[in-house]
Amino acid sequence: MRLILIGPPAAGKGTQAAKLVEKYGITHLSSGDMLRAAIKAGTDLGVQAAAYMDKGNLVPDDLVVDMMVERVKESDCDDGFLLDGFPRSLPQAEALDSALSEAGVSLDAIVAIKVPDDMIVGRITGRRMDPETGDIYHMDFSPPPAEVASRVVQRQDDTEEACRVRLEKYHAETAPVLPYYESTGLLKEVDGNAAPNVVTEQIFDILS
Ligand code: ADP
Repeated sequence: MRLILIGPPAAGKGTQAAKLVEKYGITHLSSGDMLRAAIKAGTDLGVQAAAYMDKGNLVPDDLVVDMMVERVKESDCDDGFLLDGFPRSLPQAEALDSALSEAGVSLDAIVAIKVPDDMIVGRITGRRMDPETGDIYHMDFSPPPAEVASRVVQRQDDTEEACRVRLEKYHAETAPVLPYYESTGLLKEVDGNAAPNVVTEQIFDILS
């Protein structure tokens, strides 16, 4: 199974991605996680990407495309993959298409998670992560347990200002990818304004 998960920031892509990779036994490729790992490792890519990410801007297409196209060629993607956060612009979608057709493989579905803008800012500014386990919490909707609460951290681009920029970029750059995939007949939309397990059920139903 080769899938793409698309949605605005904090649509729940990470949560749903974890369920999907478990069910289908495929490799999870999150462009955001890969870029954050590059920043942490201090690679050239990380140094270049950090300046864009901190402000909520998209990292330039050529950098992200090279990173992702190389990654999907690795052997752990032979039995399938789930792309989370990529492609995020039309040029990225086109570059992915050519790389996949060169490799002789095709996508099975593009799942778009829909969440209204007014929900997004609250979801993002309340989001926290446990740096020890990577678990994600929300200070109002799913607060961390007492023993974890003192160590949770906020992502650098989860401030209100960066979040508004990310939302603008989503509408300007990423939303145009949806009609592009709609024309292939592979686009499936789900309502992301529901409890996480309800969204998971919707996605499983669609894919079966
Ligand atoms: P979210 O979906 O919550 O915005 P991500 O972890 O997917 O978070 O992405 C965080 C940041 O990483 C983005 O705001 C952007 O700067 C950068 N990024 C991730 N994926 C891409 C991509 N495909 N193209 C350009 N920038 C990207």
